[in-house]
Amino acid sequence: MPRRASGRRLPSQVLVETGTAEVREENLLQMTVDGWKVLLEWKGPGKPAGSIERCEGTTLVHFDLPKGPLGEYHISVQQPFIDIHRSWSGSVDCWRGSELTSIALNFSFNTAANFNLPVICNYARTGENRGVIGLIDHVTATLVNQRPLIEEPPMHLLQTRFSRQRRTGGFRETVVLCREKRHFVEAIRRVMKLCRQRQGIKPLPAPDWARDPVWCSWYSHLYGLTQRQVEEQIPHLKRLGVRTVLLDASWFKKPHEAYHRKSGDYRAELSLFPDLPGLSRRLHSEGLKLMLWCVPHFVGVHSRKRRAMGAYCVRDGKARSYQLCPFCDESKAYARALVERVMREYELDGLKLDFLDQFGPACADPAHNHGDGNFGAAVTEFMRAVRDGILHVNPAAAIEYRISYSTLATLPFANCHRGNDAPYDADYMRRENLFLRLFCDYPSAIWNDYAYWHALEKPENISLMLGQQIFSGGVPTLSINLAQCGQAQRRIIGRWLEFYRRSRDTLARAELSVHSADSSFSDSSLQNVEKGDAFVLLAGQHVPAKINLQPGIRRAWVLNAGAEKGGEMSLVSGKSETRLRLTQRGPVLASL
Ligand SMILES: [Zn+2]
Repeated sequence: MPRRASGRRLPSQVLVETGTAEVREENLLQMTVDGWKVLLEWKGPGKPAGSIERCEGTTLVHFDLPKGPLGEYHISVQQPFIDIHRSWSGSVDCWRGSELTSIALNFSFNTAANFNLPVICNYARTGENRGVIGLIDHVTATLVNQRPLIEEPPMHLLQTRFSRQRRTGGFRETVVLCREKRHFVEAIRRVMKLCRQRQGIKPLPAPDWARDPVWCSWYSHLYGLTQRQVEEQIPHLKRLGVRTVLLDASWFKKPHEAYHRKSGDYRAELSLFPDLPGLSRRLHSEGLKLMLWCVPHFVGVHSRKRRAMGAYCVRDGKARSYQLCPFCDESKAYARALVERVMREYELDGLKLDFLDQFGPACADPAHNHGDGNFGAAVTEFMRAVRDGILHVNPAAAIEYRISYSTLATLPFANCHRGNDAPYDADYMRRENLFLRLFCDYPSAIWNDYAYWHALEKPENISLMLGQQIFSGGVPTLSINLAQCGQAQRRIIGRWLEFYRRSRDTLARAELSVHSADSSFSDSSLQNVEKGDAFVLLAGQHVPAKINLQPGIRRAWVLNAGAEKGGEMSLVSGKSETRLRLTQRGPVLASL
């Protein structure tokens, strides 16, 4: 909070500088903010205006782009690279299995409403923030690049550059900077919260039942799931307290058919599910919920819908893909009608929507109306149509999105946000839950990727996978054939789901803290000060000597999932400190 010389606090949002410290060259507008440079480069004859706003520990730099033709433009932030050890970026590369967590000389990633976040953070070896840099608008497609300026020696400035393209101007772009000296995760959370507030983003609330454990058929049965196999799970699901049954990408096609060729019709494959409406009624009568997998923008060449909808699929100039072009009104109307029909026909409680980050190549079909060419905005409207269709049939439905297209911009269109597929890597699951927790708070729900393990897996590892799911803030989800997995494994599942049942509501509203300075968030906690409870997860090499919790925390559960099987540590909350011996892999309770 900036202060006047008299010490009187300024109101929280005040325009303190307008047009000051700006340098204009032809098609370059430069603002200076506390020694950093913020630049706008644009094409065209109009003149943009710049202004600076201070707001609760952040600085907002506004650029008002002139009306008229615009094209490509770049917003850059230049900072000295002193005491920077590492970068965090809002980029998750799902299918290469990593987050971007280091500074290369020159790195780039793409974002839009339906993938990644236009935010980066540089931080010190201690974990202290050296600058969160982001754009307020998370919808418009963006190329984010960070590199030192190498054009002229000596090299001493690090530049973060956001490149966008719009046909016409007449709008405002805002850069958010947070340079507060606090842990970088707190600084990122602050920026994400500000972006959400300024954009008026209202997350779609998850129904209460969506915070109960989930069983998904994906890893356990892949493409061969039958109605009978689902029915075999029912007594185990009820005994363990699992609420939701999710039938994955198998229910509408024969096992050998490729889902992207058959997607579109979405009618139960009778050789696998002779009576899906009957199964739905049975699950409901047992107190369970039913969800189905669906990709509403895939219209495969083997689907009967292809003839009618092929003309609205993306065409890159040569070939027609199986993805609908999100700009077309016909695509949105079709997708809405599809999800309404599937929801109604099978009396569903929700849908798992897959691959919304994959709309194929840029569409160049001249028969489509691509409006102002803002792909992110078009995808957002497509998602809105799908959401509205689902909620029209069942206002309390769960809508599952997956990390990458679970972004700040898409929080209003889904209420359950899941990590990417990780059938054996519990560390990847844990990190993805923590990534989502940076911007995805109550009333959204975070769903783990579905826990799966080899039939001969060690009991300790099964327990650690389930424990990490819970301690990293996700709703526990399973993809295990419960009818075949054996009593010993079911007992481990039962113990963890019982722990989760008691902690469910406290965890849902807890706030994420990260206590380590490494790039994989190895020591973290979820703290609910109102309840006085904390859940501390240790997943690094060593048991840390000390972890500081927020004042007001009176009880802390600690799960040691790190490389060292045991150790001693202190927990501190306000003036209380307690010593703790960790000798087991289960949760250990400490009082403060
Ligand atoms: Zn198109």
